[in-house]
Amino acid sequence: MTSRYERQIPLIGKDGQEKLLNSRVLVVGAGGLGSAVVSYLAAAGIGRLGIVDGDVVEDSNLQRQTIHAGKIGENKAESAAEFVENLNTDVVVDIYPYDLTEKNAERIAKNYDVLVGCPDNFETRYIINSVAVKLGKPFVHAAVHGWEGEVGVFVKKPCYRCYIAKGVEIGGEIIGAVAGVFGCIQALEVIKIITGKGEPLIGKIFRLDLKTFENFILELKERENCETCGGKNEIR
Ligand SMILES: [Zn+2]
Repeated sequence: MTSRYERQIPLIGKDGQEKLLNSRVLVVGAGGLGSAVVSYLAAAGIGRLGIVDGDVVEDSNLQRQTIHAGKIGENKAESAAEFVENLNTDVVVDIYPYDLTEKNAERIAKNYDVLVGCPDNFETRYIINSVAVKLGKPFVHAAVHGWEGEVGVFVKKPCYRCYIAKGVEIGGEIIGAVAGVFGCIQALEVIKIITGKGEPLIGKIFRLDLKTFENFILELKERENCETCGGKNEIR
C-alpha cells in the first residue's frame, strides 16, 4: 500500500483500509451531494465505485457540483468517472450514464455492498429504498434544501418509506456548501459501515440547520404495514 492512505490508517487500521479497497459502493446521483460523496470515497480508496446519473452538466450546476469543473455538456456519470481517475487510480469506476429506474435498479445495485442515495427527487429515493430492502443492502440517504439537510442509514427495517411514506417535492434552492456538508457525512457513514469503526446512523435521521446549527436526531420506528419493508415490496 502506498503512502496515500497513511493519514487515515491510524484511525481505521490496515485491515480497515483493506476493507475499503475491497469494497464496492454505488452512488446514485452525481450532483451536489454526489460530488462530495464521489470525491471523498474515491480519495479514501473505495475499490469499486458505481456512479449512476443520466443528466448532463449545466452552467447552473457548478455552484455546488464541484467535480464537474470544465465539463459543461458532458454526462455527469462520465464526468465524475474522469474526476475519480485523476484523483485515485486504485479506484475502478463503473459508469451508468442514465437514470435509475424500477427496471434497471436491481440489476445495477446487486453488484455493490452499500447504496448511497444522492438524487434530487423522492421517486429515485423510493426506488433505491425498495431495492436496498429487497437485496438487504445498507442505504445511506441524504437530502438537502436551502441551508438545511438530513442524513440517515437504513438497513432493512425501518426503511426510508417507514420514515416518509409519501414525499412531496419542494423547491430546489440550496447553498452549495450545504450539499457538500451532507455529502461528506454520507461518505463518512459509508466508511464507518465498511470498516466497522464508529457508530453509523442506522435507523436514525440526523437533521442540521447550517444557518443556526440547530440539530436533532430522530430515532425511527418501523411503520405498520409499510409497503416496502413490511409488504410485497414492488420496486417503484
Ligand atoms: Zn419500511
